[in-house]
Amino acid sequence: MNGNDWRDLCAEYQYFGWGEIMKKNDIVTVTIEDFGVNGEGIGKTDGYTLFIKDAVIGDVVEAKVMKAKKNYGYGRLMKIIQPSKHRVTPRCFAARRCGGCQIQAVSYEKQLEYKNQKVRNNLKRIGGIPEELLEAVMEEPCGMEEPYRYRNKAQFPIGRDKSGKLAAGFYAGRTHQIIPCEDCILGVEVNQKILAVILGFMERHHIESYDEVWHKGLVRHVLIRYGFATDEIMVCLVINGRKLPHAGELTEKLAQIPGMASISLSVNTEKTNVIMGQEIIPLWGQRYIIDYIGKIRYQISPLSFYQVNPVQTRKLYETALEYAGLCGEETVWDVYCGIGTISLFLAQKAGRVYGVEVVPQAIEDAERNAEINGISNAQFFTGKAEEVLPEYYENYAASHPGQQAGADVIVVDPPRKGCEESVLETMVQMRPGRIVYVSCDSATLARDVKYLRERGYELVRVRAVDMFPQTCHVECVVLMSRVEK
Ligand code: SAH
Repeated sequence: MNGNDWRDLCAEYQYFGWGEIMKKNDIVTVTIEDFGVNGEGIGKTDGYTLFIKDAVIGDVVEAKVMKAKKNYGYGRLMKIIQPSKHRVTPRCFAARRCGGCQIQAVSYEKQLEYKNQKVRNNLKRIGGIPEELLEAVMEEPCGMEEPYRYRNKAQFPIGRDKSGKLAAGFYAGRTHQIIPCEDCILGVEVNQKILAVILGFMERHHIESYDEVWHKGLVRHVLIRYGFATDEIMVCLVINGRKLPHAGELTEKLAQIPGMASISLSVNTEKTNVIMGQEIIPLWGQRYIIDYIGKIRYQISPLSFYQVNPVQTRKLYETALEYAGLCGEETVWDVYCGIGTISLFLAQKAGRVYGVEVVPQAIEDAERNAEINGISNAQFFTGKAEEVLPEYYENYAASHPGQQAGADVIVVDPPRKGCEESVLETMVQMRPGRIVYVSCDSATLARDVKYLRERGYELVRVRAVDMFPQTCHVECVVLMSRVEK
């Protein structure tokens, strides 16, 4: 081998059978054979694995190696040599730069297959579920008929584009530069109209957009919420201050948009990339909008958590309700209940529902939502599930000698990190006949399913529900039943 010549070194490694070594800036031709967890294409070239963002399964692409590790690397898509049959033309011009829709270039049918496969793979690999059982329990994934314009919430940053013009859109990757894009095709069409009114108003009155670097300027973001069932619209301007000059003129213009129901300011003077400030100053109309999921009515304020895809949320909750198999008398727990959405759905068919949630404002919303729907069989606890549930169980035993706190059905809908072990442990102690697990991360779901299978529960049904078409995220609902009587 001749001095430091890298190619010779590679040749030498290859000679000894250690595989090809790729290096940065190499240009390679790769056939994409799989999707990664973030929707990126995965291909192999001479046994070396490359992850290539924006490449689609079935593509043959030319890629430039951006980062090379020993056994795998990351490539940038340079040219599509032969497009995959699953490739479609993205509807949004900014799909590749924005990064919000990782798989918009993939046909919707293939997106669903990919998401279902992701759930299945995790259950198999992490959950240790045997192939025959997976075959029996995996149901058809639940997709959307129209997988665009499904979001009821949009948060547009306001700034100046390259030419210095005021714009709403998204930040170009790793910069503070706004790429103008006033019509995100996942959002409702009226967003564009609202943004045009706000930007025009700002131009007229020389109201500056916020600059993250210098922590100067006023308008940071515009939050828009839309009630799909009611057509009510909420606009909330997030500002670096407490006062918007000429606010009356803006509200007058916005109020002319049909459906406008609530206009407010959110005060965020912090140097942070958290979007919303906690103080809300009402400017016009109500402080909330109303929406329905199924028969349940919800009041949604600027700071309320509310699922962003109402059409699929309904299917998700209906699946949870179907899996819960309620007859009307059952005691049900809804752990990680948020604003009580699932709890109230279940309460329609259960004897009693207990919800647990860590965010106090969410519990306030849950209680109010129960009240406005005339639901009196739901009760909510504020606190961490890993504290509330075990404490409830212990206190019950202490105050009811010889008895144990039980439940017929326990529903959990935890954040991405899944359930704490103490939550799972208490659930097993409470001996529910059925556990319904709603999950936004099938890897942690699989880990928790494994725990429960080892303690007397069996996996019975699994259904992926596509809450976020065009993105790599997938939600799913799982039913587990107690095996030991
Ligand atoms: N089921 C609700 C919300 C699910 S999102 C719905 O469908 O709308 C998960 C919820 O878990 C969030 O509301 C979050 O605030 C809450 N959460 C996160 N960690 C928690 C914990 N340790 N204990 C209780 N709730 C928690």
